[in-house]
Amino acid sequence: MSNYDVVVIGSGPGGYVGAIRCAQLGLKTALIEKYSTLGGTCLNVGCIPSKALLDSSEHFHNATHNFKEHGIEIKDIKANLEQMINRKNDVVSQTCSGIKFLMDKNKIDVYQGVGSLIDSTTVSVKGENEATLKAKYIVLASGSKPNYFPGMEPDKDRIITSTEALNMKEIPGKMLVIGGGVIGLELGSVYGRLGTQIEVVEFAPNIIPTMDGTMSKELTKVLKKEGFKFHFEHRVQKVENTGKGVKLTALNKKGEEVVLEADYCLVAVGRKPYTEGLGLENAGVKVNERGQIEVNDHLQTNIPNIYAIGDVVRGAMLAHKAEEEGVFVAELLAGQKPHINYNLIPGVVYTWPEVASVGKTEEELKAAGVAIKVGSFPIKALGRARASMDIMGTVKVIADSETDEVLGVHMIAPRAADLIMEAVTAMEYRASAEDIARICHPHPTYSEAVKEAALAATADRALHV
Ligand code: FAD
Ligand code: NAD
Repeated sequence: MSNYDVVVIGSGPGGYVGAIRCAQLGLKTALIEKYSTLGGTCLNVGCIPSKALLDSSEHFHNATHNFKEHGIEIKDIKANLEQMINRKNDVVSQTCSGIKFLMDKNKIDVYQGVGSLIDSTTVSVKGENEATLKAKYIVLASGSKPNYFPGMEPDKDRIITSTEALNMKEIPGKMLVIGGGVIGLELGSVYGRLGTQIEVVEFAPNIIPTMDGTMSKELTKVLKKEGFKFHFEHRVQKVENTGKGVKLTALNKKGEEVVLEADYCLVAVGRKPYTEGLGLENAGVKVNERGQIEVNDHLQTNIPNIYAIGDVVRGAMLAHKAEEEGVFVAELLAGQKPHINYNLIPGVVYTWPEVASVGKTEEELKAAGVAIKVGSFPIKALGRARASMDIMGTVKVIADSETDEVLGVHMIAPRAADLIMEAVTAMEYRASAEDIARICHPHPTYSEAVKEAALAATADRALHV
């Protein structure tokens, strides 16, 4: 039996980052992962592979739609999906090996196998490495897996999840996407750009329903222009694999039956916490009605020496949220007093243009009765946007009407995923809209839209509209 200060189960961005921080703080740490590669959902079948395919398909889209106007003429442009997937696999494999390097560098013992609680201080590892580990503290970081509802069970052949969509053998002629959330729109964009007809079937009246309403409206316009079709307020009844394709039956708003057919159906209706095989019952660790491991404000379960982080607990299912929680628990165990500002965890949708958001939405603030000022600035008014032919989008800054404190920033813009960090930093320091407006922004850049939207929020003082 090996003894550790901390045993972490799950090597996703929550688990591996938490393990590094534990090791940095002098805690003897072990990391258990059931798969042969480290990095969890994010590195293997999530963030990294999806962004690799998004970038490849975006290059293809530019080559077929925009290069000519730039004065670049290429004959016989062809999408080679096999090569795109191979490149994606190389990116994943390099990134995953990077995590193995980090584990070795930080002297973290990695065990490959399923980690299971025997009791509150003992963990068994079963698989490639068989071991029994004794731990002062245990961190559960087992992540999540794709969710689905009755009638839409993925068969991984024609009715697929994001995992299969990242490894397609052919460019579908037509693909139905159940769920107009992040996965549906990102992976829908990948294949839409390669020529697939994408039809989104969404339960809600709009896409990305939890984000600011303006973002949803603007992104719908962009995607319709790219050829997406949307079926809002449709309740999926069943999806069948017909051998050569899929047949989806749904009820529309009026209760009428709608039948849609396609080559594939991507089920993207959210993810659910993954706790199978963890042996939670052996230690008496509680889960809530949503299947999430229950934790307090310190990410501590009902068993005092067992903590849980990332997708398997409440909150946004995002890699950077999981990472912050990994660091938080490590520092807590080392006796420090860490803090996470959950209000300032940015969210991004990697369509093109990208959508990025931090803080409260206009709808949330209005519902809470907060008096606000809203400043917006269209991307097309930027010189930089015209120079690069990336003119779609808008930046929206929401500030408290009395104090001018920035309460939310939402943007659909080229490289919004990176641009949003200015807003996150400003809000972390509780900046006012005027603070952002008075900062000198380089010209010509997309970041000028953030300054202009802040000026508009301050006192309708935008300079270039
Ligand atoms: P995970 O990454 O899910 O890792 C958990 C690990 O635990 C897995 O490797 C699993 O095998 C292992 N495990 C589980 N049980 C056991 C056990 N008993 N023993 C041993 N090992 C076990 N988020 C973003 O922030 N940005 C993005 O761009 C983004 N894109 C995404 C794209 C897709 C297609 C998907 C599916 C997700 C995406 N996400 C993105 C979400 C992100 O991947 C997750 O929020 C993140 O991976 C959660 O990290 P985690 O450490 O909690 O769990
Ligand atoms: P999501 O929660 O983003 O979207 C699910 C969508 O499905 C919602 O619009 C919802 O209204 C709809 N829906 C739910 N039930 C439905 C039904 N029965 N019929 C039709 N529509 C239905 O979930 P997702 O897109 O599956 O992504 C899962 C998680 O992965 C998300 O929590 C997200 O945070 C994470 N993720 C993040 C990124 C990123 O950060 N860029 C990318 C991919 C995934």
